[in-house]
Amino acid sequence: MKFFGMLVVVSSACAQKEILEGVFLPEVAHIQVEIDYQEGVLPYTRAPSGTDEAPLTIFSDNVAALFSTLPRTIEVPVALEEMTSFRLSQQTYTAEELYALSMSERNLWDTAQSRSFHVLVMNGMLERDGQVMDQTLGATLPQIRTIALFRPVIDSVILNSSDEVTVETVEQLTMVHEFGHAVGLVGAGLPAVTDHEDPVATHHCTDVQCIMHHSAAAIAGVGNRGVQFSGEGLGLFDVRCRKDIEEAELN
Ligand SMILES: [Zn+2]
Ligand SMILES: [Zn+2]
Repeated sequence: MKFFGMLVVVSSACAQKEILEGVFLPEVAHIQVEIDYQEGVLPYTRAPSGTDEAPLTIFSDNVAALFSTLPRTIEVPVALEEMTSFRLSQQTYTAEELYALSMSERNLWDTAQSRSFHVLVMNGMLERDGQVMDQTLGATLPQIRTIALFRPVIDSVILNSSDEVTVETVEQLTMVHEFGHAVGLVGAGLPAVTDHEDPVATHHCTDVQCIMHHSAAAIAGVGNRGVQFSGEGLGLFDVRCRKDIEEAELN
């Protein structure tokens, strides 16, 4: 079973709380996302095959929906020309290496009125405690709001031909899930308003039909819910995850 992301645990809970609270300050009017990719793996900016959906709308729409309580601009690059590549040849990356990579490749940083997120599309897998995490689709470094996507794992997800999801969709769903971690879901900095944190899969939602569920079963789950992946509609986060964000925006 493929797992949607894993939260790379931060060393300082205090610093993390400050970073998260910073995202929800009323003066923060802009949410900016930077996307960079390792040479050899182009981010899936094209529309999923068989649809005329605009590139990267699943991610941008769901980020916008999550920040719906306060008016904010959401900037997400949608064309390759807006992204830059970097050259690396390793096959696995530790959290420390991803941290260093984000620090060196990142161009967008926080300002008084904006908070930035950095997405790295990796042509490799996560390495943790000497193990290659060949089932981990993505990971989050919340202390710098960096999201890593592991393309070899994304490409290995076996899809049923009846599903409306494609590899392009899986990449974007992974981005949405990791973005949820980067803003503190579930109980990872943001208090859970109702009890919906999975007691076993820490910082994940108990709702199998929510994008913050820990497993790729969520892919089928959101499909079964009849949820639109993007555009108008409820979006991929369930009502309890959205409530946590709403509370943070209002307080
Ligand atoms: Zn996760
Ligand atoms: Zn949820």
